[in-house]
Amino acid sequence: MLEQWFACELHCHTVHSDGDFTVESLLKTARERKLDGICLTDHNTQSGVPEAQKAGILPVLGGMEWTTYFGHMPVLDCRHDVDWRDALPDTIDEKLRQVHENGGICGVAHPFQIGTPICTGGHWDYKVQDWSLVEYIEIWSEGSPFLNTANRRAIKLWESILDKGYRLTPTLGRDWHRPTNNMYPAACTYLLCDGGKLTPEKMKIAIRNGRTVVSAGPLFYFETETGATVGDTIAAGDTELIIHTNTDRADTVPQANGYNPQAVRIFTNGGKMLSEIPIDGGDLRITLPLEAAHWYRAELWGEIDGKPDCQLAVTAPIYTE
Ligand SMILES: [Zn+2]
Ligand SMILES: [Zn+2]
Repeated sequence: MLEQWFACELHCHTVHSDGDFTVESLLKTARERKLDGICLTDHNTQSGVPEAQKAGILPVLGGMEWTTYFGHMPVLDCRHDVDWRDALPDTIDEKLRQVHENGGICGVAHPFQIGTPICTGGHWDYKVQDWSLVEYIEIWSEGSPFLNTANRRAIKLWESILDKGYRLTPTLGRDWHRPTNNMYPAACTYLLCDGGKLTPEKMKIAIRNGRTVVSAGPLFYFETETGATVGDTIAAGDTELIIHTNTDRADTVPQANGYNPQAVRIFTNGGKMLSEIPIDGGDLRITLPLEAAHWYRAELWGEIDGKPDCQLAVTAPIYTE
């Protein structure tokens, strides 16, 4: 079946922890925002997950946000609870391994949030030795993504891990606690999944395989002529990238912002910008000499509500052998 992009919110809270949302109001609000699926990540509990999955309103990938003094770590779809209470910075790899042994996946939430005492443990202080044990990182959290210093630092951290040769999936976490906005209403993580009905399992596979785009609204991604796309590994050499931008969903979200995509920027190892291409309607094509053992990712820039020079979307990388 052809693959398809789905709009998802991967970081949500309810009254099962410190959110104002009931499970039902979260799901209904998500549907109003034209989201296709969510992850439920209450602090240190999965108690809302059965109700959310039974409601049948949207596919729900169950999880919890490990909320510790040393960082907040979303753990998704773990068969048995791993004890988060004795997680320590120097031995976090062992906990990550235990999550994987139970089928789960791990993320880094808002790594540069102001930490203790403002928000207990919100700053990421775990010393991960083996980043292959972590599936994803929130490169955008809450707030206005392109005006938020913490998000810019998160992107730098993400790139530094990619530069070491690890694969790490970028996500957006609205850190959604209540119906009011804390970010642009259409912002989401787009997940590329097998087409047809979205399921929690498909969401998990997309995160694991690096098939994501973080966006303030527009769907933005690239592929090669042979159909390889974000998360894939391709051969080095001259490669044509076909870059797509689509605001159809974003334009239908209630109270959505106005988007005017203006340029695409391509980045590679070291955070180096390889190319900047103006958008003048339709798909873009650019041929780049891709080097071996590198990562390449794209960003969409433009206006949001008339405000110039904003980062509108960030793709996961494509990797070269
Ligand atoms: Zn948190
Ligand atoms: Zn949270």
